[in-house]
Amino acid sequence: MTTEDHYQQNRSSAWNPNIWPPFTQISSNEPPITIEKAKGALLLPDNQQPIIDAISSWWVTLHGHSNTYIAEAVSTQANKLEQIIFADFLHPQAERIAARLSKKIGLERLFFSDNGSTAVEVALKIACQFWSNIGQPKSQIIAFEGAYHGDTFGAMAVGERNLFSEPFNDKLFPVSRLPWPSTWWDDQDVEKKEHHVLISLEKLLEKPTAAVIIEPLVQGAGGMAMVRPEFLKAVEKRIRQANSLLIADEVLTGFGRCGKLFAFQRAGLCPDLIALSKGLTGGFLPMGVTMAKEKIFEVFNSNEPKHTFWHGHSFTANPLGCAAANASLDLLEANPNSYEDFESRHIPHLQQLAKDSKVTKPRITGTISAFNIQAKGNDGYLNTSGKRLKYLVRELGVFIRPLGNVVYLLPPLCIEDEQLEKCYWAIQKGLKNL
Ligand SMILES: *Cc1c(COP(=O)(O)O)cnc(C)c1O
Repeated sequence: MTTEDHYQQNRSSAWNPNIWPPFTQISSNEPPITIEKAKGALLLPDNQQPIIDAISSWWVTLHGHSNTYIAEAVSTQANKLEQIIFADFLHPQAERIAARLSKKIGLERLFFSDNGSTAVEVALKIACQFWSNIGQPKSQIIAFEGAYHGDTFGAMAVGERNLFSEPFNDKLFPVSRLPWPSTWWDDQDVEKKEHHVLISLEKLLEKPTAAVIIEPLVQGAGGMAMVRPEFLKAVEKRIRQANSLLIADEVLTGFGRCGKLFAFQRAGLCPDLIALSKGLTGGFLPMGVTMAKEKIFEVFNSNEPKHTFWHGHSFTANPLGCAAANASLDLLEANPNSYEDFESRHIPHLQQLAKDSKVTKPRITGTISAFNIQAKGNDGYLNTSGKRLKYLVRELGVFIRPLGNVVYLLPPLCIEDEQLEKCYWAIQKGLKNL
């Protein structure tokens, strides 16, 4: 047997010796499945049943895998201009996506970077430097418990301090933190929870505050924790009164995931800075953008070298990423029902599932539906019930990746009714065998 044969034979039953996998402890997980093809909502492993990608491949795949329209746009662009240094040159795809997003979002300036973490880093740096440039430095940054903003140092600092950040905690800048008053169906205490947080926020805002960062409507990695628009509006009101800045991290929630094109629109907010990535390119290519109000940009626009925003990435505004983003936006514009109507597709299924005694805290925002498994032991990322459910459900041809005991569906917009039904059926069956 040649080495290549040996590799072929073992490739889906062993860990690759040259790859360091993300977020994974090898000893306590099954090796990954090799995928050479995927189409729409389906992953198509060789010699195995298709698997429904019920979480959009880590929340990025927006219109489905290998979408022909986006693939063609990327291919056409690749044959014209693949990359260009963006400090000295412009290209039409970048101008087009900037103009379109500015118009839809209402923030005039767009700064390109490479992924969600960098989009958040850029937003934080702009916010801090904004106050420094106008000669009123403000140091406090406020974030929420359970927040996830990415894995680079600045993004980690504003994210919840947990097991993931523990080895670095002494290197992370200080952040003031508030509870996140998450809610679910038939939650009786939501107003009380929100009220307490707003009182604490008012207290914190007595100190000069550079920015408050939120994940509007849904905290993703923190456990698909959903809040009411009313709460976010009350938060924004206090931020305005305190003359601070509001950063919306829409890396997950943007591009229809929450039922409107952007979650801040559904919540009725007007953020000063917005971070976007994941669905931006339809999930085709890694790209992030940070949108900023013109009044923020103006403060950087001066003859003082120190007022410059000294930040940039090698692949800033990569033309292939921009082409994918424009094509993805075309698809969203052509079919807004694909995300606006998604909530009503989830509702009957989750209502049905919620009758199971193992299902608690059912909740839906737009295309995202979630519940907690009534689990022995603590809630949280290390609770193993979700992981066991993941493997039971995968046997049935559906891929989910629970966060501890939080189970959620976050499917690509193209998922068919029967496929969505199968996701819920597999979860229901898996729960029975848990
Ligand atoms: C995924 C995510 C990020 C980080 O994005 P990456 O592209 O993985 O760096 C930041 N914020 C939120 C809300 C996210 O869900």
